[in-house]
Amino acid sequence: MKVFYSNSDFASWRKQLAESTASIGFVPTMGALHEGHVALIERACKENDYSICSIYVNPTQFNNSIDLEKYPRNLEKDLGKLSSFSNLIVFHPKDEDIYPTIESKEVPKLEMGTISTVMEGENRPGHFEGVLTVIKRFFEILEPTRAYFGLKDYQQYLVVKKLAEVYFQKVEIVPHNIIRSEKGLALSSRNERLTDSGIIEAEKLNGYLRNVLEGIKNGNARKSLFETKRQIVENSRFSLEYLTIADASNLIEIEDNFDSEIRVFIAAWVDNVRLIDNMGL
Ligand code: AMP
Repeated sequence: MKVFYSNSDFASWRKQLAESTASIGFVPTMGALHEGHVALIERACKENDYSICSIYVNPTQFNNSIDLEKYPRNLEKDLGKLSSFSNLIVFHPKDEDIYPTIESKEVPKLEMGTISTVMEGENRPGHFEGVLTVIKRFFEILEPTRAYFGLKDYQQYLVVKKLAEVYFQKVEIVPHNIIRSEKGLALSSRNERLTDSGIIEAEKLNGYLRNVLEGIKNGNARKSLFETKRQIVENSRFSLEYLTIADASNLIEIEDNFDSEIRVFIAAWVDNVRLIDNMGL
């Protein structure tokens, strides 16, 4: 494992590979690494000659300054988890590396329909604009062959896929399944901020998604969605932001007549921590 702390460090390494056919995998992260991140990194390292894991808490994708400030950061611990990957580059840039000019902060122009306006788009104004801007910058600086994104952030995966289709056709966007704890809790850096009782609550999230999926299988989608929302409001400490059944390709909300692939999505707050999860049939 090698660590680069600036664009210029990274550029001299990248230059050596400019004429070679070596493939480069890329896993963008905001650090506070857990087994979900490590699964993506492990896969990238297996499928490419070299891989890059960025550790950068991108300020432009936070619409809430307290959330940005409280985001867990521990570089030494993160590096410890990655030290055994021999073909891995860790890129830990500063804000001025990613956004050196006003132009570098420009949001890429894309027509995305509902993909970026519902659920996370609706509840976190500016979030996807920030994600698109930082991923565009990373793709420009790093020039990866493949970039890996976890389906835990399913909507982000669709948004980035669209970015690549329009601006970076050479970069293959690879989705990776959600890594969960034994109790089914989707691993997340934000879980670190939960109290013991908050974790017990959070472990129920995947059960709510399963309830709705069960209802869909039995032809009772609308009823199970309604019942599950009621259960959350009456029997949990969660404050529910959304629980939605949507078409997996365009995220248009649907409550019955499923002839396309669908997924169920949830966002809810507990212990002042915002958690998201999703599942397909
Ligand atoms: P983050 O550091 O939260 O921005 O996440 C970096 C990448 O790791 C994103 O592509 C996430 O979707 C992915 N990721 C985070 N948690 C998980 C998980 N539990 N399973 C799979 N991928 C994950």
